[in-house]
Amino acid sequence: MIVAKFGGTSVGDAPAIERAAGIIRDRVPRQPLVVVSALGGTTNALIALAEQAASGQLILAIRGVEALRERHLKVAAELLGTDADATDVIGELSAIFDELAALAEALSVLGHATTRSLDAIAAKGELLSSVLIVAAFLKRDIPAELIDPGSVMITGDEFGKAEPRTDRIAERAGQVIRPLLAAGRIPVVGGFVGATEHGITTTLGRGGSDYSASLFGAALGAEAIEIWTDVDGMLTADPRVVPDALVIQRIRFDEASELASFGAKVLHPSTIAPAVRLGIPVSILNSRRPEGQGTLIAFDAPRRAVTAIAGKEGVTVVKVRSPRMLLAHGFLARIFEIFDRHRTSVDVVATSEISVSLTIDDARHLESLVVDLSQLGDVSVERNRGIVALVGADSAPIALPWRAPLGR
Ligand code: ADP
Ligand code: ASP
Ligand code: MG
Repeated sequence: MIVAKFGGTSVGDAPAIERAAGIIRDRVPRQPLVVVSALGGTTNALIALAEQAASGQLILAIRGVEALRERHLKVAAELLGTDADATDVIGELSAIFDELAALAEALSVLGHATTRSLDAIAAKGELLSSVLIVAAFLKRDIPAELIDPGSVMITGDEFGKAEPRTDRIAERAGQVIRPLLAAGRIPVVGGFVGATEHGITTTLGRGGSDYSASLFGAALGAEAIEIWTDVDGMLTADPRVVPDALVIQRIRFDEASELASFGAKVLHPSTIAPAVRLGIPVSILNSRRPEGQGTLIAFDAPRRAVTAIAGKEGVTVVKVRSPRMLLAHGFLARIFEIFDRHRTSVDVVATSEISVSLTIDDARHLESLVVDLSQLGDVSVERNRGIVALVGADSAPIALPWRAPLGR
């Protein structure tokens, strides 16, 4: 079996979903599990409306729900026409929008949104797209079957960025997905979304559908994972910044994951780990040009000094300055112990004799980090910085904290 994941732009409108159907039809003999993102832009819109509702702007939030309703129903009408089956699907989609409106109202009454309620709302994007895509596939004689991601993607309760429970996912995938594949069905599941053991909806973090694809692939021992997106593969730079960036035909697993973590949005940073462990090849392919070769992420790709350049914004730089560091041992260990205690991972580190600069992506625990670090020296924080990284397996990744925000 294989896993085929379609990102937001690859299911963004009716022609895109039509192309996805064509790609899957060609792959039926390989027993695909289809993982889908929300229609491009939907997750942003859902999070925005949840925040509006929680901050008392209910009318704006309801307008957001209605705009999404209109968009999805338009795509549904284009793909499904107006027969009785189409009417059922439209009823199903409408019910999801009614529930969204009710959730927005509840948030406005409460006056705040928890990460748990944000996940409940964000997850609706993949629910909507998967309902729509299953109906479109069935209408095109592809024997699709809708899977509830919460029935397989079991996670912890770290809402907003939940930890997958790989053993449980493998168990559930065996029970829920494998029998469908064996019966010649094409299971379709929303990416990004999971649920706790108690059935409470969680998400894997922004861009997490890639991670879902990799986790499902690992759970089912897939022969291959295909990430269908809107560019020709992994490129030597972000094509929005460097329009003539080149496609990398083969890239090593470690290089691809470094690139992803340093900002190459084409892959979610955690994507490759579950696939790497089992040696499952991952390809990145363009859903607008399915005949292209794309990029293959594999162990035996050539080693290069520099394979690609990546940039990331919104980074926080934390500096600790202390004369006590001079010739002292164990100082860095103490600093990292504090980051560990506050469950914050460090991306780039630069040290001199009396100061250490570290960059972090996730500034949720910044305040308490600074309190603890202040016991070691003077601490300063610079927000909204960037990192530019050169990645190549034949050299250590070179990452330069960028002092000015990377304006585009
Ligand atoms: P999807 O919706 O398919 O998940 P994303 O928007 O998450 O797609 O990722 C694809 C985008 O990643 C591309 O449109 C491109 O602008 C961006 N990107 C950034 N860096 C790279 C890179 N090195 N190679 C390819 N794409 C990149
Ligand atoms: N829809 C989610 C997001 O926009 C997950 C994904 O597309 O990978 O973050
Ligand atoms: Mg993505």
